[in-house]
Amino acid sequence: MGKVLFISQDNYNQDEIDLAVNRAFNHFGIKFNTGEKVLLKINLVAGHDVSKRVTTDPSIVRAVAEKVLASGAVPLIADSPGIDNFKAAAEKAGFMQISRELGIECHELTDPVDLPVNDDADFKKIQVSKYVLEADKIINLAKLKTHGQMYLTMGTKNLFGCIPGRLKASWHYNVGLNREKFAGLLLDIWNGVKPTFTILDGVIGMHGDGPTSGEPYNFNLIGACVDALTMDFWLCKMLGAKFEDYPLYLAAKKRNYPECELNPDDLEGDISPEKIFEGVKLPKTRTMRLLPRLPFIERLMTSRPVHIPELCIGCGRCAAVCAAGALKHENKKLFFDYSKCIRCYCCHEMCPVKAIEFKPSRLVSLVNKFTGSK
Ligand code: SF4
Ligand code: SF4
Repeated sequence: MGKVLFISQDNYNQDEIDLAVNRAFNHFGIKFNTGEKVLLKINLVAGHDVSKRVTTDPSIVRAVAEKVLASGAVPLIADSPGIDNFKAAAEKAGFMQISRELGIECHELTDPVDLPVNDDADFKKIQVSKYVLEADKIINLAKLKTHGQMYLTMGTKNLFGCIPGRLKASWHYNVGLNREKFAGLLLDIWNGVKPTFTILDGVIGMHGDGPTSGEPYNFNLIGACVDALTMDFWLCKMLGAKFEDYPLYLAAKKRNYPECELNPDDLEGDISPEKIFEGVKLPKTRTMRLLPRLPFIERLMTSRPVHIPELCIGCGRCAAVCAAGALKHENKKLFFDYSKCIRCYCCHEMCPVKAIEFKPSRLVSLVNKFTGSK
């Protein structure tokens, strides 16, 4: 049996989504036992309306929750948004309605506890929500999107939300500018959490300035797998992205993970391994690789966040989320200290009105000019 199932799906009609989700579970033989606690790890990075395609579509979450309930197991819909009040965000994204209608819990991933990690982990002390460790099974319900800092966010990256609240921002600060190091953290979380199954919502995902400020893109697919790394690396290729720009791939390659060798036999379902999605806009934030990575020029090789004052509503979320203390907000004006900025782009991610964009550094612009790169 292949490691990844791609199902063609071009809409969120609930009956069709139910069929697709059933097909995915049956394909991999995933079952639940009576009374088991099953945590559905959604993508609720922030409270956005479903139409923005930022969060996992509720139709997929509903289909999985009903399947868990039908087995006599106990589903819990959960995540930890970056900065928003969980209930308000979950209401906006359509998850509280599922909770009410099915009579199941939907709550925030809080209460950090130590995650047991592998011997080869880069980070030995990672704290995730106690609900993650208390669950008998975790079903990872991710969204297919581009991502300013990490290039792409799919199955593996979705588990970063298992870290409660502001602890996520601390990790950004601790890891700093080095994206491969951050990707190593994602691998450690993945190996520690070990979700039973991953379903990826790529029916309408996001491209451009993801994970919150991009544009919808109809990938028309649902991905299903036990090993999300294999799925993520295949999608990197299918999106026309370069592995050398994808920190998760580079970190996995450094650890000699077998998933880095793409094998067409690993794919099953409706989408050919040769498939390339046309016109996908990738983040403009990738680190320039023409020069060696030296700490003192790392900032100069990476795009910086800049303010678009005419779009700003003065909410202050950008400054509130900045763990590096590199950003101050006063009366709809932002003051960046680029010498402190770690290019995590959390400010961009949390801005509700796309009032922060990315700008290449002068060094990057100069090199691009001479090399003809975009
Ligand atoms: S200013 Fe933005 S990109 Fe820079 S460290 Fe703060 S949150 Fe991250
Ligand atoms: S830039 Fe965005 S997040 Fe920051 S204050 Fe303006 S609207 Fe709010």
